[in-house]
Amino acid sequence: MATLRQQALAMVQARQRVSVTAPSFKISDYFGTNVFGPAQMKQSLAPSVYKKVMEAIDKGSKIDPATAEEIASAVKIWAISKGVTHYTHWFQPLTGSTAEKHDSFFDMYAGMEKFKGSALVQQEPDASSFPNGGIRSTFEARGYTAWDPSSPIFIFEKTLCIPTIFVSYTGEALDYKTPLLKSMEAISNAAVEICQLFDRNVRKVNPSLGVEQEYFVVDKALYNARPDLVMSGRSVYGHTPARGQQLEDHYFGSIPTRVKDFMMDFEIEAHKLGIPVSTRHNEVAPGQFEVAPIFEEINKAIDHNQLLMDVMDKVADKHGLKVLFHEKPFAGVNGSGKHNNWSLITDTGVNLFQPSNSARENLQFLAFLVGTVKAVHDHADLLRASIASASNDFRLGANEAPPAIMSTFLGATLTELLDELEKNGNVKIEKGDNMYMKLGISKIPEIILDNTDRNRTSPFAFTGNKFEFRAVGSSANCGGPMTTLNVIVADVLKTMAKDIEKEMSAGKEKKIAIVNVLRKYIKESKKIRFEGDGYSEEWEKEAAKRGLSNLKSTPEALDVYAKKATKELFERHNVLNAIEVHARHEIMLEEFIKKVQIESRVMGDLALNHIIPTAILYQNKVIQNANGLKGLGLDHSAAVDTIKELSKHIESLKSDVTAMTEARKKLNKEDDVVKRAKGYQKEVKEAYFDKIRYAVDKLELLVDDESWPLVKYREMLFIR
Ligand code: ADP
Ligand code: MG
Repeated sequence: MATLRQQALAMVQARQRVSVTAPSFKISDYFGTNVFGPAQMKQSLAPSVYKKVMEAIDKGSKIDPATAEEIASAVKIWAISKGVTHYTHWFQPLTGSTAEKHDSFFDMYAGMEKFKGSALVQQEPDASSFPNGGIRSTFEARGYTAWDPSSPIFIFEKTLCIPTIFVSYTGEALDYKTPLLKSMEAISNAAVEICQLFDRNVRKVNPSLGVEQEYFVVDKALYNARPDLVMSGRSVYGHTPARGQQLEDHYFGSIPTRVKDFMMDFEIEAHKLGIPVSTRHNEVAPGQFEVAPIFEEINKAIDHNQLLMDVMDKVADKHGLKVLFHEKPFAGVNGSGKHNNWSLITDTGVNLFQPSNSARENLQFLAFLVGTVKAVHDHADLLRASIASASNDFRLGANEAPPAIMSTFLGATLTELLDELEKNGNVKIEKGDNMYMKLGISKIPEIILDNTDRNRTSPFAFTGNKFEFRAVGSSANCGGPMTTLNVIVADVLKTMAKDIEKEMSAGKEKKIAIVNVLRKYIKESKKIRFEGDGYSEEWEKEAAKRGLSNLKSTPEALDVYAKKATKELFERHNVLNAIEVHARHEIMLEEFIKKVQIESRVMGDLALNHIIPTAILYQNKVIQNANGLKGLGLDHSAAVDTIKELSKHIESLKSDVTAMTEARKKLNKEDDVVKRAKGYQKEVKEAYFDKIRYAVDKLELLVDDESWPLVKYREMLFIR
């Protein structure tokens, strides 16, 4: 009988292309057609109602029940005209994916389709199955979802989706969106204070975000034949192929036809949903690709990224493909990240990270640049924790992706500028003197933008007019890291405003006061700046010398959430209270444990039920062969060597899997979640994963190709 692997490979051979046609040659003809956005609202709402919604979006003001009723009615008519039968509140619980609970428009008692304003604004899903970190005891499984009007309502899979926040009965956040929205307010308040030193007209500052999403694509049949991919999103075994990424010929090479069809297809769907997807290309590893939309206001960008991942997953299915968002689905080839391009834009339209020709604006630019660098310096551990997950550990711990050491890259021009400012910034202005000229910031060359030297190894790089947080994992909800970034920068900007104020009360002129504070911050945060190769061993050593943390595993990285200072920071900015921070810490630890546990079980199961039996069968064949040779009086030493080699790996596999299971059993009795997580890291993952994998991958090389049960790397990675 053919193995599952062989059946899957036969399915791949029989694959047909799925033809894709766009609704029109012009994207503008169908962009946003599945979104109840401002244009749609303007068309279908009374002017007074429309005005109220817009105010709610801009100022966060509350929508009254009568207005909600009118909006709901308009939304219902619009949705039904598009063949929609159900609606759902769409939210982002701390599981990392999105959640929905579908309700029908059809009202059985009234005998007609109904959608009440109250159903639009608030719902009470059964929340007992979502992680809450002990905030909500299971017997009181009430959670509320509440409409977030700043992110547009959309139609996905014939369902009307209403973006919402998700909070507990007692008001604590159970999702990513609630703290994100609060962090947007925090950073706006803090940034406006600084902006006002330069321009009194600034009233609001919006963080914006552009997400570059990396992913792998494999054939669905092959995926289904790999229990490890199905269970954990990652291949726990598999020998690297002869042709890995050594040639790097995949990067910017031509995209395989089936994948291109898939890309076109999901881009069309994304565009209908108003997701401004704009670029696509191959990535470094074979089978790896990237998609990036044009940046948007941060809350929308994050909703769009979560939605895009769902869209990609659904569309891939149609093409007989599976998208892998895991950070490290294949050992030995590059992992996937999600670069978070972040900047701050004022309501007057100025990007605060955009250097310009105006000297005054450049001082403002420097204030925000230096403030952000200082935030990374002061809160490096929090930033590290914000991207910690079991799956991202496979990237950050290894020397291939931005390392677990937080640092920031500014490029040669800005580095020189900050160094100069630090050294020579002690300016005294004589009458008629041009201070900006003296400081060398009268014109920060425009070339910075085109000229930002690209350092791909930095976890947090300045790239011309924005910062790029590159250490975020490909499967992450960006809400976690972006909330943290907003809060830590807000915190530094608040202090900065106070420090400037102090200088001014001491009689310093405003410009001088600002420069003095910046100089101080530049000095204090210097050790976080690094321009070299972040993947190198030298950097690890250098970073240790500088006293920077290098927290390679999630449980270690998460310790910072237990600190009083962390709780105070989030509380100070009204983003999370101490209970919520504590809950998040627990949820992330539990999540980590669960992931390692699942992988460990899959490893054990595959080894015992698939690999060892196959290896023994093969060993029997070799034994027969050896006996045959011996009977003929021929040299059979090679066969004997193979038998011994097989035995060695089979034995070690058996004993390691048994010992790993014992280690799990012991740890599951540990009540302290921090200790349990650290135990899973050290006593399960570190103690056994590599060892067990080594034996299996050796056996893959020994056992004949035909009987090997698992789809091989070369079969998965090079898409036909
Ligand atoms: P890369 O060279 O790293 O691929 P790009 O210039 O193509 O970078 O931009 C990557 C992402 O950054 C895109 O999503 C883009 O829209 C986004 N981006 C550009 N400018 C900004 C900005 N000011 N704020 C946030 N994101 C931005
Ligand atoms: Mg990038």
